[in-house]
Amino acid sequence: MEKAKIMDEKAIQRAVTRISHEIIEKNKGIDDICIVGIKSKGIPLAKMIAEKIGQIEDVDLPCGFIDITAYRDDVTRDRHDIKDEGFDLDVHDKTVVLVDDVLFTGRTIRAALDYIIDNGRPKLIQLAVLIDRGHRELPIRADYVGKNVPTSRLEKVQVNFKEFDQENSVIICE
Ligand code: 5GP
Ligand code: MG
Repeated sequence: MEKAKIMDEKAIQRAVTRISHEIIEKNKGIDDICIVGIKSKGIPLAKMIAEKIGQIEDVDLPCGFIDITAYRDDVTRDRHDIKDEGFDLDVHDKTVVLVDDVLFTGRTIRAALDYIIDNGRPKLIQLAVLIDRGHRELPIRADYVGKNVPTSRLEKVQVNFKEFDQENSVIICE
């Protein structure tokens, strides 16, 4: 299997820093912003962004996590049978910045939007991803993108975060 590293630790840090500044700039500050990471690898990225915005603005930004497995349209269980794992952020009237590692067909984000809206009525929802690999099947786009990586459907983007893996890196495998 051929592998190419397309982002290393430094590149990921730079992308996180840029995205954090973009979030602050686009929202004209960070009032009412909460960061929500999508399980699993949206979580370390959400933490990195929340921490960076916290450093820049000298605040403690609310940061939550969701597991939307049950909300995907390719999961056949009735989502109302699924126990809520305890999403404890109050998103009512907030600007929610959803965070995931890779954006592909858009189905995960569609499910995440359903989940969030079932748990309150945010003022605004935005999306940040580390990698946009294309191949959308729904009219969904990211507001903040670490790197656009045109891929074939067969390619796989491996995203490593220190929390789970040995290093922070992004690798394309064919
Ligand atoms: P989608 O729902 O947009 O088709 O796929 C996005 C979700 O699947 C994300 O949560 C992401 O973690 C995962 N995913 C899809 N394609 C890839 C990929 O090439 N690499 C990685 N690491 N995750 C992917
Ligand atoms: Mg995922």
